[in-house]
Amino acid sequence: MTIFQKMLLVPVLSLILYFVFIFYSYSEHQQSSEKIESIRDNYLPLLAIVHENTQLFEDLREKFKDAVLAGESNWIKSTLLIKQRVESNLLKLQKYPEIVDLYQLQKTRENFQHYYLNASALAKSILMDEKSFSYTEDIISNVERYHNDTLLQIKSLRESIDIRFRQIINETSYSLNAMIFWSVVISLLSMIFITMVMLFVSFSTRKNLHEVVIRMKELALGGSDFSQRLERNAKDELGVLIYWFNKLSDKLEQDYVNLENVSITDKLTQLNNRTRTDAFFPKALAEALKSNQPLCAVLLDIDFFKAINDNHGHLAGDKILQCLASLLKESADQHDFVGRWGGEEFIIILPNTSAKQAFKKMEQLRETIAQFSFPDVPQVTVSFGLAMAQHGDDTDSIMARSDKCLYKAKEQGRNCVVIDEP
Ligand code: GH3
Ligand code: MG
Ligand code: MG
Repeated sequence: MTIFQKMLLVPVLSLILYFVFIFYSYSEHQQSSEKIESIRDNYLPLLAIVHENTQLFEDLREKFKDAVLAGESNWIKSTLLIKQRVESNLLKLQKYPEIVDLYQLQKTRENFQHYYLNASALAKSILMDEKSFSYTEDIISNVERYHNDTLLQIKSLRESIDIRFRQIINETSYSLNAMIFWSVVISLLSMIFITMVMLFVSFSTRKNLHEVVIRMKELALGGSDFSQRLERNAKDELGVLIYWFNKLSDKLEQDYVNLENVSITDKLTQLNNRTRTDAFFPKALAEALKSNQPLCAVLLDIDFFKAINDNHGHLAGDKILQCLASLLKESADQHDFVGRWGGEEFIIILPNTSAKQAFKKMEQLRETIAQFSFPDVPQVTVSFGLAMAQHGDDTDSIMARSDKCLYKAKEQGRNCVVIDEP
């Protein structure tokens, strides 16, 4: 996944989360609205009806009391309307079976009817027949009883509606609270998630970038260790950068090896050049002197090479130099060092080799060269100056003795090995 995709993932996921939440909030809002509408359409009128009934019943009771006390006979007429209104209200309540307990409602109606019948009977008997007092006593107690029962029923009907009303209000406010709670939770979770992803992406990118920068800096400031490669942890943009940086390191390493080889190799003969010799010789000499091992240095010079060039041309001369280099390499052992000293002169360094062994070896080589069929020329001979390392020697002193021996070899008629006799 690319860094861009990782960064994009967070807002996209948050958007999805928010859309889901908005959908949820919308449906919750719809439900709440429906509940509020049902409160408006059902509960408020219902409460008004129940309230009115309580009032009406109170009126009725007051009127009955006043009429009986005043001995008014038109009581029934004046309360009939109230009675009808109470009954019609109770009938209206029947239309809300999901809110109103119908059994309770039925009981209320029955009690009210009994109350009204007994109250009317009592009023009539008091006004018309004052003698039948015992009969009236029964009715009074009935009126009392049904009055109390009706009052209780109306009250409990009102209370049960009240309870249901509170319940529905609580349910609505509970779902609104839940909505607020989830909106806070989702916001917090989104924030935490966004922060975590951002932190992860930033830290991992920063760490990998830091490594790339350090490595680039090392190379730019001249470090020559091209062998190191950066670890590629992801396939994002940084991973691609690391991949190509490692490819660049491969190329730099290869170019560096090639360049190093070119810088230490003689172009014409492909032998070690003077630079390489100057680096190798002091080390080999110091090691030999330190470990008390013998070491011999030999200078070789082609005899009458100028004449070869003059007679056969420089190209032929070059070919002879190349052929001779091959012969020197072939005759060398694993630890022997062969280099071009300059022009038609060569150097052979023989570690762990005594003067005697070196002399023998050089004699063989001289013989091989002398008998070798070089292109264009009938014969090529070489003169050798051989010196063995002594305590207190440096490369200059040993080379000076080799050179001296080489000079002697030339003087002695060339094509010979002259060894430095201490
Ligand atoms: P001597 O036996 O005394 O060493 O005689 P010489 O002719 O070999 O010595 P001299 O120093 O007079 O000549 C060396 C010649 O080597 C001169 C130079 O043109 C030639 N030479 C040096 N480097 C190269 C090279 O790379 N290619 C060719 N073709 N000739 C070279
Ligand atoms: Mg020379
Ligand atoms: Mg020469």
